[in-house]
Amino acid sequence: MREGVAARDLNATVVYAGGGFRRYDEAKVGLLTHGLQYGTGCFEGIRGYWSPQERELYLVQLREHYERLAASAKILLMELPHSTQELIEITVDLCTRNRFEIDVYVRPCIFKSAEDVGVRLHDAPCAFAIVPIPFTAYLEKSKGVRACVSSWRRADDSMVPPRAKITGLYVNSALAKSEAIANGYDEGILLSNDGHVSEGSAENIFLVRRGILYTPDPSQNVLEGCTRRAVIEIARDFGIDVIERAIDRGELYAADEVFFTGTAAGIAAVTSIDRRTVGDGGIGAITRRIGDLYDRIVVGREPRYASWLTRAYAAQAVG
Ligand code: PMP
Repeated sequence: MREGVAARDLNATVVYAGGGFRRYDEAKVGLLTHGLQYGTGCFEGIRGYWSPQERELYLVQLREHYERLAASAKILLMELPHSTQELIEITVDLCTRNRFEIDVYVRPCIFKSAEDVGVRLHDAPCAFAIVPIPFTAYLEKSKGVRACVSSWRRADDSMVPPRAKITGLYVNSALAKSEAIANGYDEGILLSNDGHVSEGSAENIFLVRRGILYTPDPSQNVLEGCTRRAVIEIARDFGIDVIERAIDRGELYAADEVFFTGTAAGIAAVTSIDRRTVGDGGIGAITRRIGDLYDRIVVGREPRYASWLTRAYAAQAVG
């Protein structure tokens, strides 16, 4: 079983596909599907956190994820078949039908569904689906993440725009991730072609130096992460300065703290980079402070941030 995916009969999972709800094994794509052959699709990854005390599933930043999906689709000349509000309602319905009582990961995707040969974006129909799966930890967070700087460079916006979550672009991430694992690390950090720090294979990156938080600005070929946005807000609420700017590789080695952010990863401390210990090798104070608050927010324990959550099982969902 893959890291992160909890045991459950995938075939019996209810998915949304072809405009309705059906079992996973009833929703098929053909071998020649454009999105499969050419990577012409885009997707989202949304987390739902199960609170056993309240018997509630909290879906995190649904609106932000669906707005980003709409923007990604637009870049690929596609249009979502539903408004953001409708997609929020469908997602809540989907979780309710599956009646998950465990953390989940929801994967909406839209892709070119033409089954023919000929690479293009124009004149091709598209299909939309949402697949939810039970999910556990993505990166082993308690030990801290051992990262390396990847030999692969992040694709530039002039090649494939990384601010769109495009399926084909994940070859770039997969190359970096597998190289990192093969070399004994947990995760790779990609630099942009000009040598500045971009992001992890599926996470944004932050570093702390002298009490200030730094993260690459959106022009550094990063995905504009929903968790990144949340962390910037949390940090500013704590009174911590956050600076978005180009970051040099050397700054990673000199940092007091480094952490990754992502829907799947949450907030994960990086404890070494290229075998150089970050700070004292433990989880730094600012990382812990932000991470602890984030972990409370996503299970509905922080009323101030309640607007980030949608309660899947409450009679009335909030947006
Ligand atoms: N960068 C990349 C390349 C990613 O795949 C992800 C995961 N979606 C992130 C950053 C983090 O984004 P988010 O916080 O929206 O999950």
